[in-house]
Amino acid sequence: LVKRIESESDRPAISEDGCEMTLLVNAGLSAGLEMEQNKQGAGVGLYRTEIPFMLRERFPSEQEQFELYHSLLSAHPDKEMTMRTLDVGGDKPLSYFPISEENPFLGWRGIRLTLDHPEIFLVQVRAMLKASIGLKNLHILLPMVSSISEIDESNRLIKQAFDEVEEDALKTGKVLSKPAIGVMLEVPAILFQLELIAEKVDFFSVGTNDLTQYLLAVDRNNSRVAQLYSSYHPSVLIALNQIVQTSKRCNIPVTVCGELAGEPSGVLILMAMGYRKLSMNAHSLRKINWVIRNVSMKELEALLSEILSCAGPENVKTIVDQYLELKG
Ligand code: PEP
Ligand code: MG
Repeated sequence: LVKRIESESDRPAISEDGCEMTLLVNAGLSAGLEMEQNKQGAGVGLYRTEIPFMLRERFPSEQEQFELYHSLLSAHPDKEMTMRTLDVGGDKPLSYFPISEENPFLGWRGIRLTLDHPEIFLVQVRAMLKASIGLKNLHILLPMVSSISEIDESNRLIKQAFDEVEEDALKTGKVLSKPAIGVMLEVPAILFQLELIAEKVDFFSVGTNDLTQYLLAVDRNNSRVAQLYSSYHPSVLIALNQIVQTSKRCNIPVTVCGELAGEPSGVLILMAMGYRKLSMNAHSLRKINWVIRNVSMKELEALLSEILSCAGPENVKTIVDQYLELKG
């Protein structure tokens, strides 16, 4: 079976009954390598820009960031490259920018930190935009957004950086395309404002890791409560179902980029809900491609209401495991 999974992994991810899924990779260390493992794939759905920041001893300069981003954007100009702005704080520290807090997961993380330091945000966004001159594949993703004002402020700063870089580009006769701008859906509060947010950005990306942590009030890295942390908790699944419904209604593209999108059971549930774009770790791609090609969308859709009315995560898993077993 392992051999068949490997030898057939170049095939498009289409279910038995013809429903096509778009598979992207999550990257951070070396997006080039990760793209290699997704040759047939649609690109990078989440590039965690904080990882190269975390491996250094000081903030990378605009020029250093430009060089890194340019190598990634120009390597596959026909494929989407979603770069998330710096998402440090919480479980992702920078040695040269120490933050000490009692409650780091509810503290100075992601967009909160970079909007308080607009110079960090502007340098990074300018580097991304400069790197995308003459290209059309840059998507910018905002992490840990919990309010509309953060989106407005980010959009304002991105526009400011865009105007500056565009002026330089025009001088050299080159074109700077507008990047698609997206918001991570990972803080529960904004799930209740999706319609309004959809008018302000171009796409959504669901971060199931943090969304699970915040919906269940369970630290994702605390082994004492690890048994309570489950993205298969029916409340998490109901939230995910509402997100895809609202996204469809608002006509806004939505991707799932949390770990759930790299787990066979998770993928079946997401497919049943109507998600068609998933971004995952490169090592999950083959397995997920195989699973998609061996299931039927019709059958999955028929299981959804039962899944969403389960009492707990273990009941959800039983239903999905039974289906997976049935399909071999
Ligand atoms: C998430 O929270 O699901 C996510 C994809 O982001 P990260 O794991 O980097 O916090
Ligand atoms: Mg997150």
